[in-house]
Amino acid sequence: EKTIVKDLAERIGVEPNEIIMKLVNLGIMAAVNQEIDFDTVEIIAEEYGIKAIKETIEEEEEEDEDILEQIVDNPEDLVKRAPIVTVMGHVDHGKTSLLDAIRKTKVTAGEAGGITQHIGASEVKINGEKIVFLDTPGHEAFTTLRARGAEITDIAILVVAADDGVMPQTIEAINHAKAAEVPLIVAVNKIDKPNANPDRVKQELAEHGVLIEEWGGDVVSVSVSALKGEGIDQLLEMIILVSEMQELKANPNRPAIGTIIESELNKGRGPVATVIVQTGTLSVGDSVVAGHTHGRIRAMINDKGERVTKVGPSSAVEIQGLSDVPEAGDRFQIVKDDKTARKIAERRQQKIREKNLKSSQRVSLEDLFEQIQEGKVKDLNVIVKADAQGSVEALKQSLLKLSNEEVRVNVIHGAVGTVTESDILLASASNAIIIGFNVRPSSSVTNMAERESIELKTYRIIYEAIEDIEAAMKGMLDPEY
Ligand code: GDP
Repeated sequence: EKTIVKDLAERIGVEPNEIIMKLVNLGIMAAVNQEIDFDTVEIIAEEYGIKAIKETIEEEEEEDEDILEQIVDNPEDLVKRAPIVTVMGHVDHGKTSLLDAIRKTKVTAGEAGGITQHIGASEVKINGEKIVFLDTPGHEAFTTLRARGAEITDIAILVVAADDGVMPQTIEAINHAKAAEVPLIVAVNKIDKPNANPDRVKQELAEHGVLIEEWGGDVVSVSVSALKGEGIDQLLEMIILVSEMQELKANPNRPAIGTIIESELNKGRGPVATVIVQTGTLSVGDSVVAGHTHGRIRAMINDKGERVTKVGPSSAVEIQGLSDVPEAGDRFQIVKDDKTARKIAERRQQKIREKNLKSSQRVSLEDLFEQIQEGKVKDLNVIVKADAQGSVEALKQSLLKLSNEEVRVNVIHGAVGTVTESDILLASASNAIIIGFNVRPSSSVTNMAERESIELKTYRIIYEAIEDIEAAMKGMLDPEY
C-alpha cells in the first residue's frame, strides 16, 4: 500500500507543495499524484509530529524498494553524462591487459607523475569526452552487482583473443550482457600474434548471435592489441559513439544517487567505499545513506588520488565518513541531514533482519503454477547446462515450445559444461531456474544454489526435464520428485 503525495498533504493538513519540498530534501523528486512508500511517509509525518501507522500488513516487500524509481527528473534538467563501461570475456583473453593499456595511454598522458589510485573504477578521456571503466573485469562482477539490484553498466566490452576465438566464458559474457540488456562492443584482442585470426572470431560470434557490423549486424567491433597498445584509441572512440546513441543523461542539479562498487574497513580511515554517482552532485559535507550504513562525507578522492570536494554524474570517488562498511551493489543516496540518514539506515538494518527470517520470492518449480496464477511470473527464465551441444539445443527447443498464453519460457543461457557459480549468479540476477542435463554440479555450487534459493535440477533423460517443467507450469507436478 502506497500513499499519494496529495492525500498525505490532505491528511496532515498542509499544501501538497510543502510535502513536495520536504521530499526534495530527502532526495525524492515526486509529483502531486505520485505514490510514496511508507518509510518516507513516516519520516515526513514525523516532521509534523505525527506518527504514521501502516494500514496494511502485506506491503513490506515493496516498501523502500527502489528509491531510484521514484526519481522523476524534468527532461529539461537532464544533461549528457559519460558512459560507465565493464570489460568481459574469457580468462586470459586480455581483459586486465586491456584495462591496463587504456589507463596507461589515457590516464598518464598529461598528468603529473601519472600515479593512479586503486578505487575500483577509472576515468579516462578521449577527445575531451570522459569514459568511466569499472576496474574489476568479468561478467561475474557485473552480475553480482546486478543480482543486488544495481544496474550501473552502460556498455560492455567483450574481449575475444584473436588466436583463441569464442570460448565458454565468452558465451557466458554474451548472455549475461544480453540478460541485462547492455549493449556490447567487441574488442578482438591479441591481433599482434602470428596466429591471430580475427575473421574466425567474427564468424564464431555470429554463430552465437552477436552479429558485428561487417556481418550485417549492429555490433561494433574493434581490433586491438592490449600488449602493444594498438587500437586503443579506436576502441575508446567507439565507446563514445555507442554511448552517444544511447543518449545517456542525468541531472547534475539534484542530490546525488549512486551505487557502491567497492568497500573496505581501512585501519586508519575507517570504513571507505567507492561510489559511482549516477545522477546528481555529491559534495563533501553531504549526509548520506548507503545500504544499511549512513554518515556524512568527510573526504573524497578520485582515481588519481586527488582530493575532490564536489563531483557530478558518472563519477567514481572513494568516500570517507560512513558509520560502517556498505556492500558492493548497495544504493547510495544523499538525504537532508544526519538524523534522516541514521533513521533510514537503521530501518534498513531492521528490514534486513526481518528479511533474513523470511524466504525470498524466487521462482521454483514447486510453486510455479501458483506464481503464474497470481501473475507474479510472466516469464520463466531458464539456464540450460548439458554435456553436449546437441542436448543443449534439444532442451532449448523443447523448452521454448512450452510457452503458453500465461507464461513465456526463455532460455537466457545455454551452454556445454557443468553448472557453475556464475550460472547461479545469473539465475539470481534474472530470477531463473537452472536445468542440468548429464552434468553433476559440485557441492559448492549446489550449496550456493540453496543459499540463494535458486531452483537447480539435474536430469539424465531430456523428456523428463521437459515433462517436469510442463507439469510445474500446469500445477500438476508430482510432489515427490
Ligand atoms: P584476463 O584473464 O582476460 O584478464 O587476461 P590478461 O590480461 O591477464 O592476459 C592474459 C595473457 O595474455 C597475459 O600473459 C598477457 O600478457 C597476454 N596478452 C594480453 N593481451 C595481449 C595482446 O594483445 N597480445 C599478446 N600477444 N598477448 C596479450
